[in-house]
Amino acid sequence: MPRLVVVSNRVGIPDGGTRAGGLEVAIRPALKRRGGVWFGWSGKITDEEPGKARTTLVENVSYVTVDMLRDDHEEFYNGFANRVLWPILHYRLDLAEFSRRDLGGYFRVNEYFARNLENLLRPDDVVWVHDYHLIPLARALRDRGHKNKIGFFIHIPCPPPEILTALPNHERLIPALGAYDVIGLQTETDAGNICRYFESECHVRRVEDGAFDFDGRHVRVGVFPVGVETEALARLARRAIETAFVREVLDSLSGRAMIIGVDRLDYSKGIPERLNAFESFLTHFPDWRGKVTYLQITPRSRTGIPEYADIGRVVGETAGRINGKFGEASWTPLRYINKAHSRTALAGLYRAARVGLVTPLRDGMNLVAKEYVAAQNADDPGVLILSRFAGAAQECVAALLVNPYDPEAVGAAINRALGMPLAERRERHAHNFRVLVKNDLTHWAERFLSALEGRPAPAPVQYVPRVASGH
Ligand code: UDP
Repeated sequence: MPRLVVVSNRVGIPDGGTRAGGLEVAIRPALKRRGGVWFGWSGKITDEEPGKARTTLVENVSYVTVDMLRDDHEEFYNGFANRVLWPILHYRLDLAEFSRRDLGGYFRVNEYFARNLENLLRPDDVVWVHDYHLIPLARALRDRGHKNKIGFFIHIPCPPPEILTALPNHERLIPALGAYDVIGLQTETDAGNICRYFESECHVRRVEDGAFDFDGRHVRVGVFPVGVETEALARLARRAIETAFVREVLDSLSGRAMIIGVDRLDYSKGIPERLNAFESFLTHFPDWRGKVTYLQITPRSRTGIPEYADIGRVVGETAGRINGKFGEASWTPLRYINKAHSRTALAGLYRAARVGLVTPLRDGMNLVAKEYVAAQNADDPGVLILSRFAGAAQECVAALLVNPYDPEAVGAAINRALGMPLAERRERHAHNFRVLVKNDLTHWAERFLSALEGRPAPAPVQYVPRVASGH
């Protein structure tokens, strides 16, 4: 089997500590199974010319990292990736802060990655590039003459061409995807959007097997919904609910039902809207006052970016307002926590929660939704309330699907979930769990790599256009 080289902005070197971030959770098992290299940024910023790449060997995987110049980090990461691509790909044109300088930094760091990869790559390596930081990486590698199979998976949403074309210089950036062999997306909607962009903006032809012809290169677009380690998580949750930490949390609830939310502090997660929905729930269903506690675990992220400081302020103020309005000396309706929790702690808390509240305004997948389902006790499961705008809603169709922009509807869904009869809870959970076992993390990686290596099975779910192309 050819060696696997994974490239992503951050490299998850195992350290036995708390894990946060979907990408890291998703990739590591695939690499460990095949052995190979994970290349990316070390997380270190430097003011002097970065030295040579560093390698850490853990079992059969080499973790190779490079440092980043301060200006590069500012322009590439804080600038173009997180203040332009992140908001635009999450349909938030209003939050995008474009500058040519940042775009220049973005291309420069992609070149820097390509230069360093040059020393690593063997001709038969299969390269799997991850996420929106590295859109032009394959182009940079092709320009250096690399003919490897190179796949790209985008973990975040892909909006329609009507939004993508509002990205200044999109015509320089997005067509660079044509240098990959396979482009993987989370949902049919995302895949449909990029296909429409290719047809309308790149004027490339669709050939028989559904691939696009980019100057003789066949580029396949496929749907590969990222999964979780469903069965392992179910086992972990069974143990985790017995840990001292989870016991202590449960004791502190004094028999009250728990609602749980777990999100990075990010505007795409719809946290203020969700808190407003909780307020609406307490307003319209007063019988639940004093009987339910909502635990919102929200580690801070991207703290150097102003939009993230803004969302932190709004969420903190809203949480304080709700507790002030409804709280009693003996009851705090909402526990809002910025501390990151371990995978084990989360698994136990998910299992202990009657309701999992996952209501992003837009999310590529949302692994928390899947983890919540995986962690439930099948005999007495909690209920997942899920935004229709999370990629996970395409698979977890038996969740209570909601519009996160409608606080009254989400508030009513909380009431429905808390009062849902056991038989209905079991049926909904069993449906979602079955799907998530089939589409777990191992299957995801295998399906993507099969598609990339041209192995016939298991076949990727192909995008089927809903409208005829060419008009
Ligand atoms: N996570 C964690 N500790 C925390 C909060 C989150 O380990 O305190 C993990 C969570 O279990 C999930 C991931 O971080 O696996 C978040 O992935 P998701 O797709 O939900 O959102 P992202 O942060 O990637 O946008």
